[in-house]
Amino acid sequence: MNIHHTVIIGSGPAGYTAAIYAARANMHPVLYTGAEPGGQLMITTEVENYPGYPDGVQGPQMMDDFLKQAQRFNTEVKYEKITGVDFTGPVHKLWTEAGEVIHTHSVIISTGASAKWLGIPSEQRLMNKGVSACAVCDGFFFRGKDVAIVGAGDTAAEEASYLAKLCPKVHMLVRRDSMRASKIMQERVINTPAIQIHWNTETEEILGDDEVKAIRVRNNITNELNEIAVSALFVAIGHQPNSDPFKNWLSMDEQGYIITEPNSTRTNRAGVFASGDVQDRVYRQAVTAAGSGCMAALDAERYLTANGII
Ligand code: NDP
Repeated sequence: MNIHHTVIIGSGPAGYTAAIYAARANMHPVLYTGAEPGGQLMITTEVENYPGYPDGVQGPQMMDDFLKQAQRFNTEVKYEKITGVDFTGPVHKLWTEAGEVIHTHSVIISTGASAKWLGIPSEQRLMNKGVSACAVCDGFFFRGKDVAIVGAGDTAAEEASYLAKLCPKVHMLVRRDSMRASKIMQERVINTPAIQIHWNTETEEILGDDEVKAIRVRNNITNELNEIAVSALFVAIGHQPNSDPFKNWLSMDEQGYIITEPNSTRTNRAGVFASGDVQDRVYRQAVTAAGSGCMAALDAERYLTANGII
């Protein structure tokens, strides 16, 4: 039976950084990318706050750089998804979507987080027919048309600014009378003439049979209902951790973020470590994810050394 030293699950900044450190420590890491290689940064445009890129960098370019750096030190990259685990240990078992069983002495979970949805039936019905959680991916299809975006965090502000470059009117639906987004992003949105902010506004329904024709919104102060004609609705209301396969094995908080020991990436299972957004509900930045990926590789190396495996 082939037992790996370490398997990394996930291919965002955390996973690739863990791979770079693990590979350079001779741990022969195998990295499973999951269904969305590169993670959330693949659906981001300009990244201006990652140190080392003084002129900024496109998210996909940055992830390609991370991948190349991980491969330079012979990380084995598998474009597959891990769907099941058995962390009884000491040798841990992982199952790929295709049903293959993988054995490993240590696991680094860096599966990140995914977009949240409003949860109204018309959202599912019109998914990919005008409803999208990624303005950068799908905005181009609606260029020259009026669109709406729901949310008021940095993601919504960033995507509204992006859409305003393509669309004559961007209706931004904010459920409170203020935004959660950082001051600089709020100012950018407020000062963009093509963006119309609807305060205290909730999305009741998305209208249209085979494509989005309009949205019905409700002012939650006056209860007034309004229909706004749009060709697309972008949902940008936050994310949830991708921790489902580990639910029966690891301690998690009520939202599903994996709990790690303070100042460590150790989970409640020996040899299982977690890094990046799947265990970070606070900072959730590319650079903090990369930092915790580094920590996970160092923690895994210490674990393997302490157990006489390397
Ligand atoms: P956030 O959790 O920060 O914001 C989610 C937003 O969606 C909030 O305004 C929230 O409203 C709203 N919302 C949630 N549920 C609903 C709903 N059902 N109906 C309407 N509105 C809803 O998520 P983000 O994805 O924006 O950001 C996540 C993290 O990533 C943050 O830390 C952010 O700073 C960071 N980020 C940084 C970027 C950068 O630095 N370039 C770019 C993008 C993100 P309410 O405020 O009322 O709760």
